[in-house]
Amino acid sequence: MNNLVFDSESLNHILEGKNVSNQEIIEIYHNAITDPNELFSTAQILRKKHKGNSVTFSKKAFFNIVNLCKDSCSYCTYKAEPGEEKLSLMSKQQITELLELAKKYRCVEALFVTGEQPEQRYQEASDWLKENGFTSTSEYLIHASEIALEKGLFPHTNAGNLNFEEMKELKKTNVSMGLMLENISERLTEKGMPHYLAGSKRPKARLEILENSGKLKIPMTTGILVGIGETIEEIIDSLLAIRDLHEKYGNIQEVILQNFQPKSDTRMKDEPSADEKYFKTIVALSRIMMPEMNIQIPPNLSPKSYQSFLSVGINDWGGISPLTPDFVNPEFSWPEIDKVDENSKNAEFDLKCRFPIYPEFFSFISKELQDKMEDIQNEEGLVKEEYWR
Ligand code: SF4
Repeated sequence: MNNLVFDSESLNHILEGKNVSNQEIIEIYHNAITDPNELFSTAQILRKKHKGNSVTFSKKAFFNIVNLCKDSCSYCTYKAEPGEEKLSLMSKQQITELLELAKKYRCVEALFVTGEQPEQRYQEASDWLKENGFTSTSEYLIHASEIALEKGLFPHTNAGNLNFEEMKELKKTNVSMGLMLENISERLTEKGMPHYLAGSKRPKARLEILENSGKLKIPMTTGILVGIGETIEEIIDSLLAIRDLHEKYGNIQEVILQNFQPKSDTRMKDEPSADEKYFKTIVALSRIMMPEMNIQIPPNLSPKSYQSFLSVGINDWGGISPLTPDFVNPEFSWPEIDKVDENSKNAEFDLKCRFPIYPEFFSFISKELQDKMEDIQNEEGLVKEEYWR
């Protein structure tokens, strides 16, 4: 390996698993801009060392519980307004029916997604909660999670900035939870920037929720959105913030790296998609910064090339649904699981199905929840092949 990207001292640091500093990472990024191959191969050495030749995914159903949202991010097409065709206000009956269908499809994860505290802004959301017998979205989510467990699916809730008590309650039924950091930059919340009209995306607010998840020992999924007008320094600061949280609490189970794709009905519709080489460089940098972390890219957002990310450091495809759309990116359908399997094999990786919690975090959840997973669990703590295939 010729050391154009790394000086020999930082390369040794990295391969020994020592933390690289902010300054070192910025230097590595700038050295790798013209030819990132050495960066990619180093990320791949670390990936193989810590994750072997497996790549995981979670077989899921996406429950679009309520897509009213009190915020307004410039890139978001998920959020609906009352009266819009895409508005979703799932009833208990609809949730139960979808859970039953998901079980027939042998899904493992019930992904519960909502907009940000919809009842604080929309009367329609309060009315919907009332009709179903609840006063808050989080109460409804607790109920939905209980039904999911009864039906044999494992809940993973991603409902924005929940407070400490709400998360504490949801921990009883959710094997993990999710909240994207998106980016730690205050600049991206200024006028004209993507998070200007999204109070919940203020970095301080997001970090507080992630801190709370650490205090509560919730296996947590977080991540960043790449290509929304950020600088590389802001990306690196965001990844370092995630690394710091994990060092403090040990509860970040995976980092999602999501590439921005413009949506035709949003304020950012004319912005370009995240550049693939830039995105791959960030994937590789993430592996170098967090060698043991589970690092995920969504395969549907790089439909033609997702398998090539296996050689820059990822070890997970995230949730893939055989029956529901990706409501956050509705124009990108999920690849078929068989196809992902074939593409992973062609790249010399074994596709394995995991629970919405990674095996190394099982000790974070109650014995009762752990026991529920036993029936369909193999000796690696993953889902038995005969169940998901
Ligand atoms: S990305 Fe989330 S917080 Fe932002 S508008 Fe969409 S649903 Fe609301």
